[in-house]
Amino acid sequence: MQVHAVPAFQDNYLWVVAEGARAAVVDPGDAAPIERFLEAHGLELTAILATHHHGDHVGGLLSLASHWRCPVFGPAHEAIEGIQTRLTEGDRITVPGLDLPLSVLDVPGHTAGHIAYVRSGPDPMVFCGDTMFACGCGRLFEGTPEQMSASLAKLARLPEATRVYCAHEYTLANIRFAEAVEPGNARLAERKARDQATRARGEPTVPSTVGEERATNPFLRCDVPEVVASAERHAGRKLSGPVEVFAEIREWKNTF
Ligand SMILES: [Zn+2]
Repeated sequence: MQVHAVPAFQDNYLWVVAEGARAAVVDPGDAAPIERFLEAHGLELTAILATHHHGDHVGGLLSLASHWRCPVFGPAHEAIEGIQTRLTEGDRITVPGLDLPLSVLDVPGHTAGHIAYVRSGPDPMVFCGDTMFACGCGRLFEGTPEQMSASLAKLARLPEATRVYCAHEYTLANIRFAEAVEPGNARLAERKARDQATRARGEPTVPSTVGEERATNPFLRCDVPEVVASAERHAGRKLSGPVEVFAEIREWKNTF
């Protein structure tokens, strides 16, 4: 099984999971680059999965579904036209056409009904949409800091080797912010050097892994003393715990 990043728009990745001549797509914001990819690789589309309702994640969904007549999965609690199987935490599916079992997590915060798809076992992976990014996290459009930090904690509890397929190439900007929050983090400095080299070669910095995110992503490190100190300095006051620290650095990132 192979997972391919199909670039779209400015900085989106649409994910194509392929096995043999069959493929599923996660978050098809645009149908055209997916159709080109399928054609170029001789693939048949057998399933469509969506994480949340934003247009850059579902804009190509109806066109692909009508062309390929394949099943469409998505969040139970968001209004997305074309979803046939509506999923919520604890649901399990086997992706049609692929030998790929996935379980579903509710990860509200970026949007109210956002879900993530988790593959457990020896080759673990998670498709987390706009919830966790490489070294960052999504904006809080519909949820609270409490919800988003709980959602990120859920993702951070996945096994360390879990590959994190997020939906945007924001990594270098996220690392610049992470350095401002936690300048003493040696793992972050290593990550910066590696990811800068990756981008210089024109390659995606994603997927990362849950282990790497735990070590370097400031939004997963709201109980680390240096992160707390930076958040309190930025706030100009004492903060009462990890959720307040999370809320402060999320606000700070919006204007960084
Ligand atoms: Zn989004």
